[in-house]
Amino acid sequence: MSCIFCRIAQGEIPSTKVHEDELCFAIRDIRPQAPVHILVIPKAHVASLWELEDEALAGRLVSVAAKLARTEKLEKGWRLIANTREHAGQEVAHLHLHVLGGKRLGRMLPAAESG
Ligand code: AMP
Ligand code: ZN
Repeated sequence: MSCIFCRIAQGEIPSTKVHEDELCFAIRDIRPQAPVHILVIPKAHVASLWELEDEALAGRLVSVAAKLARTEKLEKGWRLIANTREHAGQEVAHLHLHVLGGKRLGRMLPAAESG
């Protein structure tokens, strides 16, 4: 099994788990881009949001993200990101939602690059 998040789900690679249920789990990002940076990840291998058709799983991922934001006391605000496929710079081809917060996050996107 080569997918890194499948290997984390199987316990083959260590992680800092902050949530687990029958459908998904959440870990702290290894390269945090904000004081709070958590990844919410389905246990089953789904490549990205493009491939996600399971509405129950979609609902669970979002509600776990919101629950973790509350647990992390991000009442001043936070951001949910799902980088999807090449143009979004998705690096790990196993669906994950980024929960980011703990500081002002700035504008959603940098100024558009030409091309
Ligand atoms: P993306 O660019 O949306 O595919 O984001 C992939 C994220 O996974 C990046 O923020 C990485 O820092 C994170 N990541 C990669 N490997 C690990 C790992 N072993 N444990 C925790 N986070 C990881
Ligand atoms: Zn996987």
